[in-house]
Amino acid sequence: METPRKTIRVALAGNPNSGKTSVFNMLTGLHQQVGNWPGVTVERKAGHLEYAGYQIEFVDLPGTYSLTSYSIEERIARQYILEEQPDVIIDVVDAANLDGNLFLTTQLLEMGVDVIVDLNMWDEFERSDAQLDIRRFEELLGAPAVTTVAHRGQGRQELLQAVIRLVEDRSERHRHIPVTFGTRVEDVLVKLSRRLEESSSGELGVPSRYLAAKLLEGDAHIVEMLHNRLPKAKALLLEVEGLRAHVQQSTRLEASRVIAEGRYGFIDGLLRETLISAAFDRMEFSRQLDRVLTHRILGLPIFVGFMWLLFSATFTLGAHPTGWLEIMATFFGDCLRALLPSGFVADLLVEGIIGGVGSVAVFLPSIMILFLGISILEDSGYMARVAFIMDRVMHIFGLHGKSFIPMLMGFGCTVPAIMATRTLESQRDRVLTTLLLPNMSCAARLPVYVLFAGAFFGAHAGNVVMLMYLLGILTALGLGIIFSRTIFRHEAVSFVMELPPYRWPTARGLLGHMWERSWVYIKKMGGLILIASAVLWILGSVPHDPRVDLMEKQIARLEASSAPQEEIDSLIQEKSAVAIEYTVIGRLGKLVVPVIAPLGFDWRMGVSLVTGFVAKEVVVSSMGVLYHVGDEAGEESESLRKALQDPRFGITPLVAFAFMVFVLLYVPCIVAVVAIRREIGARWMWFDIGYQVSLAWVAAFVVYQGGRLLGLE
Ligand code: GDP
Ligand code: MG
Repeated sequence: METPRKTIRVALAGNPNSGKTSVFNMLTGLHQQVGNWPGVTVERKAGHLEYAGYQIEFVDLPGTYSLTSYSIEERIARQYILEEQPDVIIDVVDAANLDGNLFLTTQLLEMGVDVIVDLNMWDEFERSDAQLDIRRFEELLGAPAVTTVAHRGQGRQELLQAVIRLVEDRSERHRHIPVTFGTRVEDVLVKLSRRLEESSSGELGVPSRYLAAKLLEGDAHIVEMLHNRLPKAKALLLEVEGLRAHVQQSTRLEASRVIAEGRYGFIDGLLRETLISAAFDRMEFSRQLDRVLTHRILGLPIFVGFMWLLFSATFTLGAHPTGWLEIMATFFGDCLRALLPSGFVADLLVEGIIGGVGSVAVFLPSIMILFLGISILEDSGYMARVAFIMDRVMHIFGLHGKSFIPMLMGFGCTVPAIMATRTLESQRDRVLTTLLLPNMSCAARLPVYVLFAGAFFGAHAGNVVMLMYLLGILTALGLGIIFSRTIFRHEAVSFVMELPPYRWPTARGLLGHMWERSWVYIKKMGGLILIASAVLWILGSVPHDPRVDLMEKQIARLEASSAPQEEIDSLIQEKSAVAIEYTVIGRLGKLVVPVIAPLGFDWRMGVSLVTGFVAKEVVVSSMGVLYHVGDEAGEESESLRKALQDPRFGITPLVAFAFMVFVLLYVPCIVAVVAIRREIGARWMWFDIGYQVSLAWVAAFVVYQGGRLLGLE
């Protein structure tokens, strides 16, 4: 007779990059479901497996360094463990970096859950020539340990057997040990946990010692939980305040510091007894490197040097494939022209779609290089140092050092940058950073600058483009000061900034990251931009003005009668103007004129701006259509540049400058707006749209009217 299958629920916890996902994949193979944790956009992976007569269900918790309630990830992981109470927690630890990774382990042990320590990256550990007395390690921790090399599937059986042994209560290694925090808080902890037990009559479901430590640390969520569950919480919390003050007085340190130090002391003690360190210690090497890279004075110039390298690589290396893409787009267009009968469909495909998407696609190589560079900085561990270096500077602007990374990524594309704000611990920092981010000029705005600066500022074009980037940065920083002193009055909290050891990035990791981010951009081109280009082109072609036909006939007559070329040219231009004004786009453009006239913009510019909401690059493709240059309207396109310079359109350098400022500051593209809504909610999204449009208008107004007053026109 078959025994009924029992279910075991296993959760995987561990630091980011400890190989958690690899362990999860090794255990569950293809039986995975990916979704989100309820209410937030953090990925939740679950999977299952039948093993030794059990149905084992796995959940991959978000990677965290700790289990406080600061970041979304930490909150999710902790809540899952406390509320869902999985049977076993596999704590995935990077064995080559034990001292850092065990910080989380101590917190799991404090929670009194059944932990298996998975010493992953065992291959790296062995290569480092270090030695670990695993028996002793298990004994001291009171938890079984297993070694694995997850990405090669080594240690799978052992890990699964450890799980079974643990649930069948056959594990010799398993016992709950108290994690001690040292004499300085021990008395207080014992006292407090006894009080907790008295007043709860054992209904808390978590060890009282854990709760006591959390209360001393001042953990807001645990305080809230206590309020909900204990009738006498108020009196107890007053007592906690008293105890915390006492700890603070006797140690001259915050209680949370003392406890954290206690945990590190515990780890130090454990490792001193079990680990024989290798001559070459990765942490030690990192510390040496950090002495230079995060140097108080040298750190910043070194970082600026890296950035300079990255941006020049983006532009110089990107130039070649960009040229090839342009040639390809033209070739593709010519082929279609040759294949299709001339008429509406051919025009739509070649002028509308290939022209529109092509003018955007040419930026893909540069963007991919930028993303690759950012991935290298991230995977090597240098990005974490950048946050560290920039922290002091960022605080001036009401931001956290970690906000710097999303801001930096904003130069590439606002969308992944917004997603990168998830690494920030507090909601305040996430919202503030997200709101400031769109001011960092994304790669999509570059075509507009290149076009206008090239057309109106000749030899100074490069400087003008640079000025736009600078203006964006200054705006973000200025707004940071304003917002953090008005809307976000409450203090920015300080956090530990983890400095993970440096490591050589793997090719697979780098390409994976680069691809993930570039894919967002490619999807945007194949979807939104393609549709927008087609729709725009159609709206710019219908309805057809009968006067155009008359003019065409007249042109043909003039050409036949060998009239002066100038006369013919001016008639051709007049024809284009008449044609576009009669179309839907032309009419829409006239509607926005009252709003943008004070900025010196004409209706064509207005239409381009409206369409730029789809994607900023579309501003350029729209202009191609509106100024009727015909075929491809890339920013390099000489004909579009010439057309803009035509005095008939009345664009002076001052207007051009005001226009670039407007493009820099007004709403980010629709994809970014959607990302903002997803990450920080609809209210902030509307706030962002409102403040950006107003700011753009005011800034362009000041530039244009101010410039006129100064006689710059
Ligand atoms: P997570 O962030 O904790 O989910 O980590 P991942 O599973 O994404 O792994 C991070 C990187 O470490 C990947 O490049 C893996 O291929 C690699 N990795 C995972 N396990 C091991 C291991 O046991 N040994 C080595 N050398 N690399 C590993
Ligand atoms: Mg992972």
